[in-house]
Amino acid sequence: MPYRRCGKSGIQLPAISLGLWQNFGDIDQKEVFRQTLRTAFDNGITHFDLANNYGPPPGSAEQNFGAILTTDFAGYRDELLVSTKAGYTMWEGPYGDWGSRKYVIASLHQSLKRLKLDYIDIFYHHRNDPNTPLEETMCALSDVVRQGKALYVGLSNYPADLVTEAAAILRDLNCPCLIHQPKYSMLVRTPEEGLLNVLDEEGIGIIAFSPLAQGLLTNKYLQGSIPTDSRASKEHFLKSTAITSELVTKLSALNGLAAQRGQSLAQMAIAWLLKDQRLTSVLVGARNSAQLTDSLKSLENLSFSQEELKLIEAILST
Ligand code: NDP
Repeated sequence: MPYRRCGKSGIQLPAISLGLWQNFGDIDQKEVFRQTLRTAFDNGITHFDLANNYGPPPGSAEQNFGAILTTDFAGYRDELLVSTKAGYTMWEGPYGDWGSRKYVIASLHQSLKRLKLDYIDIFYHHRNDPNTPLEETMCALSDVVRQGKALYVGLSNYPADLVTEAAAILRDLNCPCLIHQPKYSMLVRTPEEGLLNVLDEEGIGIIAFSPLAQGLLTNKYLQGSIPTDSRASKEHFLKSTAITSELVTKLSALNGLAAQRGQSLAQMAIAWLLKDQRLTSVLVGARNSAQLTDSLKSLENLSFSQEELKLIEAILST
């Protein structure tokens, strides 16, 4: 596993990190996700990404991960980076969502209990809150670091202009922003419109979430049908209506190019992100060990010729 330096910090992250948004909740099979976690760590994935609300039900991914930390990963705490977040709806009433000091700090306390940890390695604000002063949220993040409940802080889903503002506040608090987590893949290019440059200039690490566009950038939808067990079949975060014939045509063309490179479509999609050295890590989801093992093989070929890059852009712009 190659490790990349996270912005201008002392931390290095594995080029591929594992996220527990889906597939690690109480509705999922414990033995399957336990094996996925073991496969990850055995292959050098030292960084696991969670949030207060991951499940379902919300909180169960942290609880399940915490249980496996105390059994399978006992004795390995110092080899692991565990991230969690607060920012989306977590509990009833006005203090269970967004970015108040009350919510952010109470949520971290709950996460630590579920994870059975004394401290979290990276604590993120999950999304910007238009109704709370940025100073209040950033000060809460910096205070939990001061208290030893988190080692580093991160931001997720913040647009470029707010990253600049938040980073300045955190710098003044002597608590530099370690990392930003945007949605970024071959199919979702928004970070290229300014965010990546701002993060690079600020010396903030970048970890791309949903690099496979929730599974669209894999071979499973190439026939245009929806396989049982796939995320699109659940009609929740990924709707079956996303699998249009136009998309399937693009995916098939990308799949053809991936095959010429000796890669699966998933492997090429991950490699395509990692070709940019500004990216510290790519945050994959995996429903089982086999998917993760397949995705890890992307690391065998991260370079693209100019012709390949042009062809990818041509396919995506059709
Ligand atoms: P991906 O884009 O990697 O999608 C994961 C899905 O892709 C899997 O569930 C599986 O779908 C499919 N898949 C993965 N690998 C393969 C493979 N090799 N071959 C075939 N299919 C494969 O990422 P996610 O959308 O799951 O997001 C990853 C992580 O990013 C999350 O766990 C979370 O940590 C983070 N995240 C952060 C957000 C934020 O707001 N900060 C929001 C969303 C995610 P299937 O189940 O259909 O088989």
